[in-house]
Amino acid sequence: MKSDALRLFFALDCPPALAEVIVAWRDSLHLSGRPVATANLHLTLAFLGQQPRARVPELLGLAARLQVPAFELRLDRLVRRRNGLVYLAPSQPIEGLLNLAQALRDALLAAGIGLENRPFLAHLSLLRHCPKLPPDVIPSFDWPATNFALYASEQGPHGTQYRQLQQWPLLRND
Ligand code: ATP
Ligand code: MG
Repeated sequence: MKSDALRLFFALDCPPALAEVIVAWRDSLHLSGRPVATANLHLTLAFLGQQPRARVPELLGLAARLQVPAFELRLDRLVRRRNGLVYLAPSQPIEGLLNLAQALRDALLAAGIGLENRPFLAHLSLLRHCPKLPPDVIPSFDWPATNFALYASEQGPHGTQYRQLQQWPLLRND
């Protein structure tokens, strides 16, 4: 029987061509650790955790009503946390990204779905269990963020995989 709950999150999906470039760059650094699969590269906007399946239509509705402009995301920092997670991040706050994460948080709260209290941290995970980074690595990747999506995180035969439930465009200026 299918489980009644899904592990859900909203995220920006890394465009496939950019994901390939980022992964080729990551692999060229020859870091130790467990690499994130190319298809799994994403930037989480709001993590909802376990939610009843019956809640999905409401989530699709609230996301469809968001009116948030598209933006450019420059990833120019490589960070390693103490737990060994290595990720790309922007060195400057990206207003468009913060607006989108906040708009989602507000809409979820209005629907009675509170997120954890910790502040939003923009990060694109690349590798886990990495013991050390080489010094002076300065990445520079430009990601035109034009849409966002709702995902279910599931356990597949090759580990965690994300199933996109739906995506929505961000507003274009032109
Ligand atoms: P795994 O945990 O199986 O190694 P994963 O972390 O990519 O893989 P999930 O734990 O399902 O998969 O997480 C999905 C996304 O949500 C990831 O971007 C993850 O960083 C983020 N996430 C997970 N837990 C939280 C949390 N408590 N708060 C904020 N974001 C979270
Ligand atoms: Mg996790």
